[in-house]
Amino acid sequence: MTGVSSVWLDPLRTALDEGSPVPVAWFFRDDDAGWADDRLWPLIEVCAAAGATLDVAAIPEEVTPTTGAALGRLAGEATIAIHQHGRSHVNHEATGRACEFGSARSADDQAADLTVGRDILEAAIGGPTTGVFVPPWNRCSEVTVGLLAELGFAALSRDESAFVTSFPEVRVCADWTRLTREGGLPALAGTLAGAVRRRAGGRAEDDRLTPAVGLMLHHADLGAADLSGLAQLLDLVANHPGAECVPLASLASTAGATQGAADDDSRT
Ligand SMILES: [Zn+2]
Repeated sequence: MTGVSSVWLDPLRTALDEGSPVPVAWFFRDDDAGWADDRLWPLIEVCAAAGATLDVAAIPEEVTPTTGAALGRLAGEATIAIHQHGRSHVNHEATGRACEFGSARSADDQAADLTVGRDILEAAIGGPTTGVFVPPWNRCSEVTVGLLAELGFAALSRDESAFVTSFPEVRVCADWTRLTREGGLPALAGTLAGAVRRRAGGRAEDDRLTPAVGLMLHHADLGAADLSGLAQLLDLVANHPGAECVPLASLASTAGATQGAADDDSRT
């Protein structure tokens, strides 16, 4: 595409070429809408050009009326899908890793943040969200998960390192920013190739494994070179018979109940 080599995608292309009984689903989750809006719109354009619905995790108290109206319009066109990303993306923990919905918050406080946040976001976008909750830093407590069920949320989306629950969840498995900072686009392609192979044989034994390949993005971190690389990745995924782009929320309806426990260690 655009004359820039996509040789960096060769490992992923090889993994996709190896084939699977059914196409592997992919989704693209962008976090922190409400911050750095000027970088959000170009990302949405790149995804729309590839025909991929961008899953946008929006911070209720940070979405301005202007941004909210634009997001609501794009959601109405199915260009994006809007999920709730916390309430205000603040850390309430005095020690340890940052968390908005962690052990420092009582169940009542968390319930208020979930419902008030939902109301604020739905008012801003002029309609319902998907009902998918994306906790800031990909972290929440077991109390949070119980509240999501009580309060009518449809699903949760964290990352693969998070503890497993019986609540429907669709997890991301790769972080664009972290991988490209550590090893450039080749590191990203290598991780995605591994993710494809882990899913190609059908449901794996690992309870933490979401069947889809979910890539986490942060638009605030994406410069022109990142967007060019993403366009190349989307071009491959959208046109390869071994892959299909699927909105996160539609995957939530098929997310199986799982059980077990694991540690949570992720970025945002
Ligand atoms: Zn975030």
